[in-house]
Amino acid sequence: MRRAIRVRIYPDAEQTAVLERQFGAVRLVWNKALAIRKHRYKVRGERLTAKHDLKPLLKVAKRSRKYAWLKQFDAMALQQACLNLDRAFQNFFEGRARYPRFKSKRGTQSSYHCTGKIAVGDTWITVPKVPGRIEAVVHRDPVGKLKSITLTREPTGKYYAALLFEDGAEAPQPADVVPESAVVGVDMGLAHLAIESDGRKTPNPHHLKRAQSNLRRKQKELSRKKRGSRNRAKARLTVARAHVRVANARNDFQHKLSKRLVDENQAVIVETLAVKNMVRNRRLARAISDAGWHGLISKIAYKAERSGKRLVKLDRWAPTSKTCSACGEVAEAMSLSVRDWACAGCGVHHDRDINAAVNIKHLGIQKLRAGGTHVPACGGLRKPTHAVAAADETGNKAARAA
Ligand SMILES: [Zn+2]
Repeated sequence: MRRAIRVRIYPDAEQTAVLERQFGAVRLVWNKALAIRKHRYKVRGERLTAKHDLKPLLKVAKRSRKYAWLKQFDAMALQQACLNLDRAFQNFFEGRARYPRFKSKRGTQSSYHCTGKIAVGDTWITVPKVPGRIEAVVHRDPVGKLKSITLTREPTGKYYAALLFEDGAEAPQPADVVPESAVVGVDMGLAHLAIESDGRKTPNPHHLKRAQSNLRRKQKELSRKKRGSRNRAKARLTVARAHVRVANARNDFQHKLSKRLVDENQAVIVETLAVKNMVRNRRLARAISDAGWHGLISKIAYKAERSGKRLVKLDRWAPTSKTCSACGEVAEAMSLSVRDWACAGCGVHHDRDINAAVNIKHLGIQKLRAGGTHVPACGGLRKPTHAVAAADETGNKAARAA
């Protein structure tokens, strides 16, 4: 299993200079590769890949006089920039991210190192091409073999190293039998970040809300400052710090919520396609990216993997909000403002979000069973298969065809 530790590092003046040049080289490779890729697609309709086109091109560039200076930097870091671009395009094509953008020297910088010269000690790390040991605060005991170090500089001016270890242990196998009571469906909303099928609602935490409104205020202040002025540079740093506070608050919250979901259940079911579709709605996009569902899902994923639990992602559209979770009747189109409704078929009154979470649970159980997991019903209060079948029958042709 792989484990990552992120530590703060304190490069001295000489190391900082080398690091900054290295970041610059990585950034140049990314930006050039992106420009070439964009151009080739526009002119010839070709999609260049890192493996077959961009990495070989990098080799050629290093032999040229103009780019020979790239040779003084860690070759792996430069190649990784091409690979990262591939990844960024894949994320874009699969709807998880927006179109890759050129990197600016003001944004977060990074470089990846994975060759033999990487090492970590109690209070230091070493990476290729950077002289001496870089002072580091290693707050946790590293376990296993160090696989890679990714160095970053945040817009706030702080440096970090992400250390990736392989501990040699196998991930625990998830159980073959998962009782229905140990399955939770999670609907991710805006008013509440997470609504669980047992009715538990987790609102946006206050410290996150506070950090977010602080960030918005700082951003407004920044936009009023004159371009190129020293005050603008100062305001930019303040905004960067506010960004970090939001990210920290969100991460902290996501870690707690994902830990509880994984600890309390054998299987966690989430919808992924809904996020993608909703982000296309521009008015909602901002609120949704603030909610950070993607980050929450990836935290659930790795925590589940480590503890032998399951994460089931529902990636096909199903009318989870408007299907009655008691009888399977599908209500007419329902706007987002409808928070609760009564089923025309059976008369049961539903809270919109809890009903959706219950449907998500049912669909997840169906998927688990299809994958060979035994999911015995217990409690017997609900008729779980009903709503799922109905959701499939009601015009979700894509789901049936696939
Ligand atoms: Zn009903």
